[in-house]
Amino acid sequence: MRVRARLATLAAAVGLLAFVGATANGLDHEYLAVVPAADYLPPTPMPGLLIDASTLPMSIEPIQVEPAPRWRLTYPGEPGCVARNGLLVLITPTHPIYPLDYRPPEMVRVGGDYVAAIAANSLREMFDAARAAGLPLTNHSGFRSYEQQAQLWRGATRRYGVAIAQRWWARPGHSEHQLGLAIDLSSAFRSFRHTPHSAWVAENSWQFGWIVRYEYGTEYITGIAYEPWHLRYIGREAAAAYREGNYRTLEEFLGMIPEPPTPD
Ligand SMILES: [Zn+2]
Repeated sequence: MRVRARLATLAAAVGLLAFVGATANGLDHEYLAVVPAADYLPPTPMPGLLIDASTLPMSIEPIQVEPAPRWRLTYPGEPGCVARNGLLVLITPTHPIYPLDYRPPEMVRVGGDYVAAIAANSLREMFDAARAAGLPLTNHSGFRSYEQQAQLWRGATRRYGVAIAQRWWARPGHSEHQLGLAIDLSSAFRSFRHTPHSAWVAENSWQFGWIVRYEYGTEYITGIAYEPWHLRYIGREAAAAYREGNYRTLEEFLGMIPEPPTPD
């Protein structure tokens, strides 16, 4: 662990971050991110990102984690409300779910975990198509409650520190997984990146209404590092338009571009 931490610091110093072997939620993941300097968010923790609970009609207090990160990506509009925004609800590290204890009204188990019922059929179809292509996929993490996300976040920050954890793990109330509209895929390989499975997903998921939410090189907009395994359901119609328009982030698709981060 100490060696890994030192390596990460060294890599960050030259604009690269190698981050291998994270274990989340009891599920073994291999995260390997090599991010160009321009896409790399400086890791020094500074005040700014935590949502001011007093400005939102929240039913649960956000978990206070100190120190807060340096960058503040602020998004226009109200917090992501499924009732108002439907499948196109935007949830980001600084754009929380409303209400904070939101749960999908109905959930169905597909693959290894639950998703919102509205996304279940399309997910089954995508898994069938992938299997038919000889690339079977598994949903190893679908819906997560606020409490589950809080537990993950605590574990990740304890293990890696806020600066690194926030690039892969969302704070409670700030994860698309809480919508039941996001899944983390895995394949037969331990690492999903650089597999034919991830290439197939990147090329075909839109046909089933799913997008790769955190594409390579978009961290400066999403606030989240490259995650080829994390898919988000936006519905077939929207996903087709997303593909047609060559969009790389949901933020750009929705015209909700975060303000540039303000260094101190
Ligand atoms: Zn995910």
